Amino acid sequence: MINKERLVENFCDLVMVDSVSKQERLMADIIKEELTRMGYSPKEDKAGEAIGGNAGNVIVKIPGTINAEPLLFVAHMDTVEPGHGKVPVIDGDIIKSDGNTVLGGDDLAGVACILEAIRVIREQNIPHGDVYAVFTIAEEIGLLGAKELDVSKIPAKFAYVLDDSGPVGSAAIRAPYYNQFSITIKGKSAHAGLCPEKGTNAIYAAAKAIASLPFMGRIDEDTTCNIGVINGGRSRNIVPDEVTMEGEIRSIYEDKINKYTKHITDTIEKVATGEGCTVKFDINRNHDGYNIPEDHPVLLLMKEATDRLGIKLSLHSTGGLSDTTVINNKGIPAVDISIGMTNVHCTQEQIAISDLVKVSSLLIEIIRINGEKGAVV
Ligand SMILES: [Zn+2]
Repeated sequence: MINKERLVENFCDLVMVDSVSKQERLMADIIKEELTRMGYSPKEDKAGEAIGGNAGNVIVKIPGTINAEPLLFVAHMDTVEPGHGKVPVIDGDIIKSDGNTVLGGDDLAGVACILEAIRVIREQNIPHGDVYAVFTIAEEIGLLGAKELDVSKIPAKFAYVLDDSGPVGSAAIRAPYYNQFSITIKGKSAHAGLCPEKGTNAIYAAAKAIASLPFMGRIDEDTTCNIGVINGGRSRNIVPDEVTMEGEIRSIYEDKINKYTKHITDTIEKVATGEGCTVKFDINRNHDGYNIPEDHPVLLLMKEATDRLGIKLSLHSTGGLSDTTVINNKGIPAVDISIGMTNVHCTQEQIAISDLVKVSSLLIEIIRINGEKGAVV
């Protein structure tokens, strides 16, 4: 049913196009051309202008041939560095890079599988409802394209984002809420040798405050915390009057992220003020998390599709962020399905041809079964 040669050729063609974040122009044009050739009318939004990139998100509607729930599929067009001059090397069932760059299967494999699924439902006249596909920009540098996406024109019931690693059939159904924080501890400077007693050492206060935290790293199976950057002090012989600490907390559950964020601020405030310092907190909620129940229609549909294909469905949490978080935050329930890519963001990145075929087949089954169900009144 899948045209394997065509799928592999299309994937390799995409890999050979440079599309690092904010430089997706050529990739966007190629995808739009291919969709136009198939008879559809892809649109490009203004996300590129908004973020300083050279292309926008590409959005296409595949009009339904029957009445069924509208679906959305998402993959990102950009790749990480080193991503210039990518050369796909086929070694049996494996496609990898020549070792000098990433392969860019993250996420061009997602793009290629969506395009192949669209070709097949069209060629084989598989009855389907409206299908939307969005190819986003700048996912790798903070989900910037997805954040600019106007979903009011995409009336999809739910969405599948193709951007997870792991075996095909697995999906991330929970991802964390995300708080980032910057904490500034202010003390008082003084000459370190002549009159240290006139100073208040902000580095000492910061160190004591951090050491007083009962947790760092993994707090529990749903929650992590990290202080990743510390800056402070001016010279060996000056009592330091200021330290900033930058960090993050992630949790699948909102009550937990709130609880641990409060714990951190309360502890640091108490210890640092006890050392005679003042503290300023700058805490931002960057993203809300998502937590899709296992009996949600987006997963029931995926389960039927994997069952039909004899693929094992496995559902998990992720501590990472992807466009899935943004799509959920914008109100369309979405899961992040695995496309089989391995060693992503490394020059050893690779993907199996058999997995590209499986993922395309999975999308087609999802679309087909959704069509068989018809519209839910
Ligand atoms: Zn990705």
